[in-house]
Amino acid sequence: MAYLTTTGSGQPVLILKEGTTRNRGKEAQRNNIMAARVIGEVLKTTLGPRGMDKMLIDSLGDITITNDGAAILKEIDVEHPAAKMMVEISKTQDDMVGDGTTTAVVLASELLKKAEELLDQNIHPTILVSGYRKAAQKAIETINKIAVTVNIDDRKTLLKVALTSISGKAVGGASEHLAEIAIDAVKQIAEQRGDKMIADIDNIQLVKKTGKSLLETQLIQGIIVDKEIVHPGMPKKKENAKIALLDSALEIEKTEMSAEIRIRDPSQMKAFLDQETSMLKVMSDKIKKSGADIVFCQKGVDDMVQHFLAKEGIMAARRVKESDMEKLARATGARIVSDLDDLKAKDLGLAGMVEERKIGEDKMLFVEKCKDPHSVAILIRAGLERMVDEAERAMTDALSVVSDVIENNKIVGGGGAVEIEIAKDLRNYATKVGGREQLAIEAFADAVEVIPKTLAENGGLDAIDVLVDLRSAHEKKGGENMGLNVFTGKVRDSIESGVVEPVVVKEQAIKSAAESASMILRIDDVITSKAPKGGPGGPGGGMPGGEGEE
Ligand code: ADP
Ligand code: MG
Repeated sequence: MAYLTTTGSGQPVLILKEGTTRNRGKEAQRNNIMAARVIGEVLKTTLGPRGMDKMLIDSLGDITITNDGAAILKEIDVEHPAAKMMVEISKTQDDMVGDGTTTAVVLASELLKKAEELLDQNIHPTILVSGYRKAAQKAIETINKIAVTVNIDDRKTLLKVALTSISGKAVGGASEHLAEIAIDAVKQIAEQRGDKMIADIDNIQLVKKTGKSLLETQLIQGIIVDKEIVHPGMPKKKENAKIALLDSALEIEKTEMSAEIRIRDPSQMKAFLDQETSMLKVMSDKIKKSGADIVFCQKGVDDMVQHFLAKEGIMAARRVKESDMEKLARATGARIVSDLDDLKAKDLGLAGMVEERKIGEDKMLFVEKCKDPHSVAILIRAGLERMVDEAERAMTDALSVVSDVIENNKIVGGGGAVEIEIAKDLRNYATKVGGREQLAIEAFADAVEVIPKTLAENGGLDAIDVLVDLRSAHEKKGGENMGLNVFTGKVRDSIESGVVEPVVVKEQAIKSAAESASMILRIDDVITSKAPKGGPGGPGGGMPGGEGEE
């Protein structure tokens, strides 16, 4: 139905397009809250080291098994706009700090649940939103109050941070090995800029190869290109190699039209072939003239060109991924050239060593000792493809938290310690604020306790008992880091026992959860336009009164 209103003279005015649906007030709010909470419920059981995994099967039948919040939400197709906002939180969390995605989503979902109870008591959403904002600010103060400063050369602590982040991943006995590699890699790429340390983990290349075991995962001082040398006659190894990067083909382009060439005389045939060969020879000559020892080509390399290059002792790799070309450019200082005529000595990059090595069944090219030492690669190995994927997710989390701590050297106790302290401080603060906002701040305090509660539930423990223990431990002097050991069910100092997380992960989780819960609470009207018929790009413009909307 189209929405109509009338002017003073009774003339109808069409406000919304035919087929638009509208959902307002309480109904809209409840729908949104419900949809967002469903996402939180899905992720809840995966939280913490004893969380369960999800098996995700995509439309092609490919299976992913993981308990990584961001990975789960990436795979599932979410329709509802409010649910999509929850997916956005996990993405933001992942992009900003690389860990704490499940925490952020579960917290946002709980904030909405508590908000719903207050909405039932006729508390206006704007009060909730302002109460939540104040509570989030206060929570961040608490995080910083109990934060512990780390010396970034304190390898032991970095290791604990990395191990905490991957404790829920199915990498078992190899966790230490992966964590050590993560620390080495991040330290290598970290650089001082002004008075700040910057550790951009985009400079760490992750290459996965099935075969061998997780313990065979290794750090490479350079770049790995998952390609082999194209011709058996070419060298397999070169020290102090000059590198050319070419993003056009080393082939003669076939004409688009079908052309017919009539040859009556065998000598003409020979001339024709010679002509083609000499064009290919010219290509090889141009590369030789530039002084390159190896050419990485983003497109194909003709057999004849391979042959000529091999004769000159020049190596070549073909169909190299664009992203690898960019990494090679950054690491070796080479310029990616499109037109072979432009290839000059100054466009070449440098690497101390280029070598083809056999990894498992395949050969790969290792470009090491590069000009820019701030690029490293991690070669991830595991017996099964699914294990390799999970190891990659674990490695990404470990790299993220280590770089978080190197950039911002503060940590807090995990296992629910920081959340219980936040809840305690918020309850005190709420009484000072008073009024209706007090209720919102108390709701926030209850909501953050969902983290220790869920950790306990996932560990098969009695959540109520655990909460009581944790709260009383935090009332005592020096109890601000008391957290749950999910394996024993006992409460102990999380910092002492090495369950530690970067401050930025916790801060970001609070911020993004509070922001998105508030955003969802502020919506009181959902207006949905009807999708044009024939889908996007189609002719569109359905008939009036067409079907399709809810
Ligand atoms: P997220 O996606 O939010 O990082 P995780 O599944 O990685 O979710 O779980 C993180 C939570 O697990 C944090 O609250 C962290 O403190 C907690 N945690 C990690 N290791 C332990 C441990 N050994 N004991 C108790 N809690 C832990
Ligand atoms: Mg985590």
